[in-house]
Amino acid sequence: MARIMVIGCGGVAGVAIAKICQNSEVFDELMIASRTVAKCDALKEKLAPTTKTKITTARVDADSKDELVKLINAYKPDAVLNLALPYQDLTIMDACLECKVDYIDTANYEPEDTDDPEWRKIYEKRCKDLGFSAYFDYSWQWAYKEKFEKAGITGLLGTGFDPGVTSVFAAYALKHYFDEIHYIDILDCNGGDHGYPFATNFNPEINLREVSAPGSYWENSKWVEIPAMSIKREYNFPEVGMKDMYLLHHEEIEALAKNIPGVKRIRFFMTFGQSYLTHMKCLENVGMLSTTPVEFEGHQIVPIQFLKALLPDPATLGPRTVGKTNIGNIITGVKDGKEKTIYIYNVCDHQECYKEVGSQAISYTTGVPAMVGAMMVVKGLWKKPGVFTTDEFDPDPYIEALAKFGLPFVVDENPTTVE
Ligand code: NDP
Repeated sequence: MARIMVIGCGGVAGVAIAKICQNSEVFDELMIASRTVAKCDALKEKLAPTTKTKITTARVDADSKDELVKLINAYKPDAVLNLALPYQDLTIMDACLECKVDYIDTANYEPEDTDDPEWRKIYEKRCKDLGFSAYFDYSWQWAYKEKFEKAGITGLLGTGFDPGVTSVFAAYALKHYFDEIHYIDILDCNGGDHGYPFATNFNPEINLREVSAPGSYWENSKWVEIPAMSIKREYNFPEVGMKDMYLLHHEEIEALAKNIPGVKRIRFFMTFGQSYLTHMKCLENVGMLSTTPVEFEGHQIVPIQFLKALLPDPATLGPRTVGKTNIGNIITGVKDGKEKTIYIYNVCDHQECYKEVGSQAISYTTGVPAMVGAMMVVKGLWKKPGVFTTDEFDPDPYIEALAKFGLPFVVDENPTTVE
């Protein structure tokens, strides 16, 4: 029996919280704490009649370590599940450290203000040293490893689908299918249609920052960076069909490059339709993706934050999104001296997710593994002092729980590979 505190109450948290409530045997008490407490109260009202988990709510500004420490010390959770934004990762980790409570999240740290000179100095050095220029990387959170070890607490980073399940798929393949893995292609396909000319399926600010950045991949022990959207492939996704996909930088590449011995190349591809790309290019060209504040009629506004206010809230896309997602890894390596390739993937139907928890499949495929990661930690199955990604533990109990809570997987031992 465990007591969990979830921070944030948006699209992903809505699913993770619904799944926590389906799993009262493990999570008997839950606090939902977020910036807008009315959202936490509304979710509590919806879920309380359906679950044995005792739910409480609170308002918290997760940019304030003091507020977090006060709340954590008052509620005394066994673990804190951070489903706010990557901007809050370090503050929440600091609070967990002070309170000696386990920490779990789904996305790695990036700063809200990318013009902050202190952050920029470190960022520019990292771009030069490592060779990729995404705003996010693991160095900030891996730097907590020793502090977490000394405090005797676990930090589990990136337990969404990608990163999260995709890293577990790699660990699972290494455990059960290969002696050595050489090539990993992670393919993220959203074949869903929400009917809007343009909308993002998770937080627009974080999503647009990610997909408008230069792409990069890991090859022969170094990063290769390319202009945004400059490598395109077509792939015929099981249960979805033929889609265009583009090579992006993605955070699990960094962890897998460190943790999969002998790996020669890791790439990440995501599908986009032409309409999405045209809208994004246009918004970028007129400056709407900028993170630098501008003066407008006496107010300072950040263009990408203003754009977020105009775009549909991803948490409201559930009723109108139809179609399926297919996310997984094509992995090539060696078993008993012979080269082989497998494709391990999950297919998720937007409308089935909506019927079950009231959300579209992107929030669902992130929220379920967030709950499963938290469950691994509180049950002691993935608990050791330090800071880890999901590829660093035994994948079997995680994979089993994923299937039980709505995300089963398929292994194709004769897939089409990506050129
Ligand atoms: P949303 O914008 O829908 O939700 C974010 C929530 O965090 C909101 O409830 C928001 O409050 C709250 N919040 C923001 N700032 C603060 C703060 N300072 N203090 C307290 N609460 C705050 O985002 P999503 O649900 O789409 O995404 C959540 C996380 O999941 C993100 O980090 C995202 O990167 C990650 N993600 C990971 C994926 C993966 O596969 N690994 C895939 C998709 C998303 P308010 O309601 O007031 O706005």
